[in-house]
Amino acid sequence: MSVVKGVAMRTVYVNGAYVPETEAKVSVFDRAFLFGDGIYEVASVLGGKLIDFPAHVARLHRSANELGMRFNVSDEDILAIHRELIDRNGVEEGVVYLQMTRGAVDRDFLFDTDNLEPTLVLFTQTRPLIDTPVARNGLKIVSIPDLRWGRCDIKTVQLLYPSLGKMEAKSRGADDAWMVRDGVVTEGTSNNAFIVTKNGAIVTRPLSNEILPGITRAALMTYSAASGTPVEEREFTIEEARDAAEAFITSASVFVGPVISIDGIELSGGKPGPVTLGLRQTYVEESLKRAL
Ligand code: PMP
Repeated sequence: MSVVKGVAMRTVYVNGAYVPETEAKVSVFDRAFLFGDGIYEVASVLGGKLIDFPAHVARLHRSANELGMRFNVSDEDILAIHRELIDRNGVEEGVVYLQMTRGAVDRDFLFDTDNLEPTLVLFTQTRPLIDTPVARNGLKIVSIPDLRWGRCDIKTVQLLYPSLGKMEAKSRGADDAWMVRDGVVTEGTSNNAFIVTKNGAIVTRPLSNEILPGITRAALMTYSAASGTPVEEREFTIEEARDAAEAFITSASVFVGPVISIDGIELSGGKPGPVTLGLRQTYVEESLKRAL
């Protein structure tokens, strides 16, 4: 973190260099800028250490592979860049955002990939993750149709529809939206969706091309199974969700976020439910044990 004219400035990483954020540059011909041809990861930081890091790197490889994108940085270097940025920016609690794109080349749908160097950008965001308004008060959710493309399992930077979904949720007096396709809930705009049934079962829909394989989702499922309550993977409708005992979301930056209403119908008395809060605590404790 450097200070320019009294303003604290982050150090960010761009293609091999650590630079002040105002000096960071990416080409206007970058494929991500022109075509959304890029992938990303967001890893959280607690106590200056990375949460679920190996799984985030593994998913980055999978995303690159699915898109036939070159991957020219080693896993050791990816970790080293994360650590360097956390260190330089003094991040105790927050996130590291990583974006990798196919590279910069004159605009055309088809292009010569042979000499294309991927663009790699990373930056940090310092923000509270443990003691947050969402953790304390929960989220109001509204449902919207899932109008995204057919490869939602790849973590691409094509975030227009999720972004519009969040704006719509806000305009409807809510905090976020859950998307519904063919009558069943797919996921949240930037998180995976769970319900807790009145019988105490924890339910989330199975993985497919229609949702992102959330890293937090997978970790939570491991911890929940280890503590004796395996998560049931099956589809559920928005009606079932509205009628559930509790609901919650998972994501790297929220961890486990309680849902207190869906389409204006209150769940768990309009406050974070006990099962959700227990899972949140378990997730945080277990993640800290494994933080890098
Ligand atoms: N689904 C979508 C659509 C997302 O954008 C995200 C967060 N990027 C998630 C789920 C949660 O994934 P993770 O737990 O890996 O952050």
